[in-house]
Amino acid sequence: MAELDDLGALIARELPSLIALRRDIHAHPEVGLEERRTAALIQRELEASNVACCAHVAGGTGVIAHIPGDAAQAVALRADIDALPIDEATSLSYASKTPGVMHACGHDGHTAILIGAARVLARIAEQRPLPRPVTFLFQPAEEGLGGASRMIADGALTGRIGSPVSEIFGLHAWPWLPLHTVGVRDGAILASADAFTVHVNGRGAHAAWPHLSRDPVVAMCAIVSAAQTIVSRTVDPTHAAVVSFCAMHVGDAPNVIAESGIMRGTLRALNSSNRAHLIAQLRHVASHAAQLHHCEASVEFSPGCPATLNDRRATERVRDAVRAVVGSKLVEMPTPFMGGEDFSAYGEHIPASFFLLGIQNEGAPALPPLHHPTFDFNDDAIAGGVETMCRLALH
Ligand SMILES: [Zn+2]
Ligand SMILES: [Zn+2]
Repeated sequence: MAELDDLGALIARELPSLIALRRDIHAHPEVGLEERRTAALIQRELEASNVACCAHVAGGTGVIAHIPGDAAQAVALRADIDALPIDEATSLSYASKTPGVMHACGHDGHTAILIGAARVLARIAEQRPLPRPVTFLFQPAEEGLGGASRMIADGALTGRIGSPVSEIFGLHAWPWLPLHTVGVRDGAILASADAFTVHVNGRGAHAAWPHLSRDPVVAMCAIVSAAQTIVSRTVDPTHAAVVSFCAMHVGDAPNVIAESGIMRGTLRALNSSNRAHLIAQLRHVASHAAQLHHCEASVEFSPGCPATLNDRRATERVRDAVRAVVGSKLVEMPTPFMGGEDFSAYGEHIPASFFLLGIQNEGAPALPPLHHPTFDFNDDAIAGGVETMCRLALH
């Protein structure tokens, strides 16, 4: 296909403006479900390239766009567009202009890449029909507010605009992989993530009369200690799982035994049965460890995303696409990561593959990790990201 040979040239022509867009998005970050400026920018850019789009979905800030093609079913390409409640600590010229909010997870880069793919594919579609229709999902609220499920509920996969979707791809900037490298993996690549809150109720007393109390501090310590055996003693040792307590609040005086306390944390697993097991075990351990100290515990869960499971055939397509990108190197990720990503929700409906886009410059000091106040996406990864997405659509 002649157009494919020109893909590099088409992308090179868009690149300066995509970098400018990426930096503009970085300077104006918006947290989940508040991405109004970002959504308006996406809509403006798509319409300027004559790409049909449907805005105000998924709670108001999602955008679905579509380019027709020859097949009955579409391929979907997804970008998340939200930022995080973090105070940016970089000295970049395009650093966040909004105190307390920043793009610390690279979603500014994901958004610019998908706008780039839409522009380039629209150019190609002007010359000849695409082999299959392409649906672009600009998804809000990836960081814990269920953006993917909202998109799905609003018809992102069933042809709200364009055709029903039969396959979906998404990428994430990955500071632990070198630039011009793409990490892929069959099966689990990221974990499920469920938040929990443990409420512990006891009886308050004067600190010098502990026998009159039912001390929630002692019960909470017992719960945390006992919970360490959930993974080590009840999960198959060849499976990965995480139980982390990340916040504890109890009491506020050195001479008063508190009445109650709460703890918060997260559970991670790589399949649905381990996910359900961790939830059941935490309830069991919390209630019994509390009882041992004459307190009561109840556990509340806020279900997050399931594990991200990559479909074998879809992942093979990613491999083919990456191999076709000149200068791009394919890396098989030997193990999954215990982070969570709500892209997994799409994979519960259709074959899906999520891949990792390297952004670490060779020889440069190691980049800060995702969600760090000094994190920044690497603009040198945009062209490769756009080309990989385009090739997935043109496959
Ligand atoms: Zn994130
Ligand atoms: Zn992210």
